Amino acid sequence: MTTQRVTIGPPPTTQHSTGASPPDVETGPVPARGPLVDKYGRVHRDLRLSVTDRCSLRCTYCMPEAGVPWLARDTMMTTPEMLRLARIAVSLGIDEIRLTGGEPLLRRDLVDVVAGLAAIDPAPEISMTTNGVGLAKVAGALVEAGLTRVNVSIDTLKRETFIELSKRDRLKDTLAGIEAAAEAGLAPIKLNTVLMRGINDVEATDLLGFALEHDYQLRFIEQMPLDAQHQWDRSQMITGAEIMARLQTVYELTPMPDDTRGSAPAELFLVDGGPATVGVIASVTMPFCGTCDRVRLTADGQVRNCLFATGETNLRDPLRAGASDDELAALFCASIGAKLPGHGINEPGFLQPPRPMSAIGG
Ligand code: SAM
Ligand code: SF4
Repeated sequence: MTTQRVTIGPPPTTQHSTGASPPDVETGPVPARGPLVDKYGRVHRDLRLSVTDRCSLRCTYCMPEAGVPWLARDTMMTTPEMLRLARIAVSLGIDEIRLTGGEPLLRRDLVDVVAGLAAIDPAPEISMTTNGVGLAKVAGALVEAGLTRVNVSIDTLKRETFIELSKRDRLKDTLAGIEAAAEAGLAPIKLNTVLMRGINDVEATDLLGFALEHDYQLRFIEQMPLDAQHQWDRSQMITGAEIMARLQTVYELTPMPDDTRGSAPAELFLVDGGPATVGVIASVTMPFCGTCDRVRLTADGQVRNCLFATGETNLRDPLRAGASDDELAALFCASIGAKLPGHGINEPGFLQPPRPMSAIGG
């Protein structure tokens, strides 16, 4: 197998540039090192790659209006560093890379990141979770670069509620982003919604109606203890069961056969007999850790084997100190080897991880 080293993307185009010269990035087929199997037999194929911890919104279940202390710029991975680690992940059997954050669209060279990921041989599927603000401008370029799927988070269809929930007046931008993604050919478009009691819970059926009308796939996510403010309150959480009950006031929901779920976090239901579906991600009340195939890489180069992990494996420092691909792959494997069987939210003594969702990558 032949590999060559090329330089991808100069640092000045990155929002979080360290100012250092970019390291070389290998091209050519990746050697097979995988798979990433943990002690419980779970094979990891899905990498959530956080490209920034910054965000254009301030969703109350995620971070306070004033924001959070952002990661220092010199700790953030440059694009070549990110692509090198992604390539190693692919060599370990990762076949889907989901870009997330923070808000991934805030990374100015996001199109270069996507193009770099698409150039990995074999190319992983490249998807993105976004709040949609700014997506209208770049959806076409992202698709051209290799993005294949998108999840847009939208919690309300009402301008005032959007402002109350996200502290920003950007509903129009999110809606324009969803529309542009569809026009750019991304399908199916998935929508993510977190319901908050007394704020947008009354909109559950309207949001599903909106999704059905446009042929988008809506998924409701239970609020998790991952907010920077540490104010999550189980008694206030809208559970999966309550979400279902609200939807069933208008729609008939039929569970899809269990064997179609695989490692997907969402339990899917046919709406009014199908073919349209709605998903419920009940991470707290009905954990799906037993089939988890996800691993996360933060924007500052730390591997997290679970959203709720309290420990991380630092890949950035060894990478900057000259570690080989094999050495970095071994660190990736060690992280997965230490993965716990479940997130433990429902166990006594559960501790919320120090990093908020926005700095982990949802
Ligand atoms: N900024 C992008 C967005 O909002 O889509 C990507 C990052 S965001 C952290 C990814 C997903 O996590 C979003 O769908 C968001 O609604 C969800 N999320 C954030 N905080 C959450 C929490 N405490 N509980 C449940 N979901 C949460
Ligand atoms: Fe930003 Fe996404 Fe967190 Fe909302 S959920 S504040 S859009 S990172």
